Amino acid sequence: MLNPATEETVAVVPAATRDDVDAAVVRAAAAQRAWAAAAPADRARLLRRFAAAVDANIEELALLEVREAGHTIGNARWEAGNVRDLLEFAAGGVERLSGRQIPVAGGIDVTFLEPLGVIGVIAPWNFPMPIAAWGLAPALAAGNAVILKPAETTPLTALRLAELALEAGIPEHLFQVLPGHGAVTGDALVEHPGVAKIVFTGSTRVGKQIMAKCADRVKRVTLELGGKSPNIVFADADLEAAAAAAPMAFLDNTGQDCCARTRILVQRSVYDRFLELVAPAIESVAVGDPLDEKTQMGPLISRTQLERVRSYVTADLTTIRGKAPEGPGFWYPPTLVTDVAPTAPVACEEVFGPVAVVLPFEDEEDAVRLANATEYGLSGSLWTRDIGRALRVSRAVAAGNLSVNSHSSVRYWTPFGGYKQSGLGRELGPDALTAFTETKNVFISTEA
Ligand code: NAD
Repeated sequence: MLNPATEETVAVVPAATRDDVDAAVVRAAAAQRAWAAAAPADRARLLRRFAAAVDANIEELALLEVREAGHTIGNARWEAGNVRDLLEFAAGGVERLSGRQIPVAGGIDVTFLEPLGVIGVIAPWNFPMPIAAWGLAPALAAGNAVILKPAETTPLTALRLAELALEAGIPEHLFQVLPGHGAVTGDALVEHPGVAKIVFTGSTRVGKQIMAKCADRVKRVTLELGGKSPNIVFADADLEAAAAAAPMAFLDNTGQDCCARTRILVQRSVYDRFLELVAPAIESVAVGDPLDEKTQMGPLISRTQLERVRSYVTADLTTIRGKAPEGPGFWYPPTLVTDVAPTAPVACEEVFGPVAVVLPFEDEEDAVRLANATEYGLSGSLWTRDIGRALRVSRAVAAGNLSVNSHSSVRYWTPFGGYKQSGLGRELGPDALTAFTETKNVFISTEA
């Protein structure tokens, strides 16, 4: 893999084969049986130790993320800290994962939340650490084993997390990392009869293929897929605040964020004023060396991604642009496309780079229509001072994660997931562990 800021080789990591997957599943299944039988307090304690080991190595993990993914150092530290938080949160759930007692005649009826077994987590390259931990932490806490396949370009943090787990006392083989190609290692996990559930985050295209394969075995699946999220600015909003926040809402992580607010919808009466305010904010975004604490945006992950982003911003489009370094590295400047048809590819498809479009709308109804005119439904924001409108529009936009007068949407203790083709199922939040269990109902007669 290459350092995206310099194009220098960072490491060469061998890819796991189908035979490696078979062997890993056998080992994981044995480890899972012992783990599920252990006392809840012991499992919780080991997960807390794992969290502590991550905490003690935040800087090392963050630097790895900067080198292999080009993330800014500030973001990378947050991401490593997020893994720690996810593990602590999940650890707190181990002893609280209770079934129910349901009234029946002639006996008692209880439910158990049983672990599923071996879980396959297939992660993307855009947030390698947090997204791996979204699956890993609750799955382990609920009594499962995990085999994690990181993305081809970003296996290093995942491999280090597996070492830290072992150092912390997590039993051997309970959490294994198998780097490799999607079509080989990932596919082997999807097809393996010994893997009970696949947690996939990535493109909608691959997600659909995985869902179809899982259907063959009725394998459980959670999908976190693409997005083309709206940022709706009403005329009654605090325009200065909305314009100040809009750039990083699509530029954070160089736009390689499934929740990026890449369709900025602005009420026509304030459209020109919004552009006047947002242009200097975009032009002044600090793009450059990810290790510089002041940098707000780094490079794209790869040359392929750079070419993909370039292909969307055709020469005929009008743009407001920021700056980007020249020379080696996969750099692309912050770009806002104005005067574009809502049906143009750049306005409809997920670019996954530092590019957004701005489109005018007439009224609330028109805003909701435009916001929903997409196959995706992951996130969205709306800016208004009218609380009634904030609630009406939040309910009317078909997306899983909305924020009002802000752009925050992913917290490990609140549910996250997509409507429509943005995904299936929910991760994080109060029910995170339950998603890794099967409910078993047991009736016990008191008549015998
Ligand atoms: P991708 O679909 O190409 O790859 C994702 C993962 O799937 C990688 O590990 C890859 O090796 C693996 N894979 C590829 N083909 C496979 C196959 N046939 N069988 C099994 N595994 C396979 O996506 P990407 O380019 O790594 O990630 C970017 C995408 O992820 C974007 O579309 C983005 O929106 C999405 N994403 C979604 C969320 C969310 O929570 N909804 C979060 C982050 C990223």
